[in-house]
Amino acid sequence: MSLLEIKDLHVEIGDSISGRGSTPAKGKKVLNGLNLTMEQGEVHVIMGPNGSGKSTLTMSILGYPGYEITAGTITFSGTELNPMPIYERARLGISIAYQTPPEIRGVKLRDIIRIAGSKPLWNPQDEPEENIATPLLKKVGLNPEQFRDRDIGVGFSGGERKRAEIAQVFAAMPKLMILDEPDSGVDIDSLKTIAVDLGEYIKENACACLIITHYRHILPYLKPDIAHVMCGGKIMKSGNPFEIFTKIEEKGYCEYLGLCPPGIKEETERGMKI
Ligand code: ADP
Ligand code: MG
Repeated sequence: MSLLEIKDLHVEIGDSISGRGSTPAKGKKVLNGLNLTMEQGEVHVIMGPNGSGKSTLTMSILGYPGYEITAGTITFSGTELNPMPIYERARLGISIAYQTPPEIRGVKLRDIIRIAGSKPLWNPQDEPEENIATPLLKKVGLNPEQFRDRDIGVGFSGGERKRAEIAQVFAAMPKLMILDEPDSGVDIDSLKTIAVDLGEYIKENACACLIITHYRHILPYLKPDIAHVMCGGKIMKSGNPFEIFTKIEEKGYCEYLGLCPPGIKEETERGMKI
């Protein structure tokens, strides 16, 4: 049995996530028959032009409200996820670091890290030195004294947000971690620290990792098994990550656009000229 099996997935984005109403919509079709299988401990890279549906795929696996599955199935360790709410999927061992981590005023970073790890909120009487969030913040290169009492994401730099997200992922001890552009906005030195920690976590815990990235910097540390190129809401090509990166760096995504469904090529080319 595979860890994650996605079959012929079709997803529409509803109005509810744009704040325009509570009823999922006459939506925009974003995923159009996507297939993906991952085994325990495997590292898969997803790349693809802006708007190809990469983040929508991650939100659909997690069951984020407003991402409506109109056809196909997502199965995790033999359990079909389609009818499950987000918190039940998280309990099964799926954890995500979002592309754009949210700001949450009034909730401290140390508390969300503890919640992600199913630990009670910090009570100094029981636990004189906070010992859940503190080591994880250190691990991702955030000074615990400066960050643990701050509201989540508020006033954080782009890279600090990403690192705070990864601390939450580590706390959850997932079987599958989904990282949506964890390297965007992170400086090159911090990138190496995070990548080393992610690589160690993956190896020690036989954790599977689905990572979306436009860059190859962190890949040597994560040792990906395979890369997939998405276009038009589908995986159009899969293969050796380093070979695919080399081709994309040399030629751009257009190399792959011949594989796209009619209409997508022109649309993407127009987008790429901007
Ligand atoms: P990627 O991560 O590959 O850049 P996304 O999955 O974020 O792409 O988006 C795929 C398409 O869905 C894009 O055209 C995007 O504009 C659209 N989309 C994503 N989120 C929303 C939303 N909340 N409301 C309307 N359209 C959206
Ligand atoms: Mg995205």
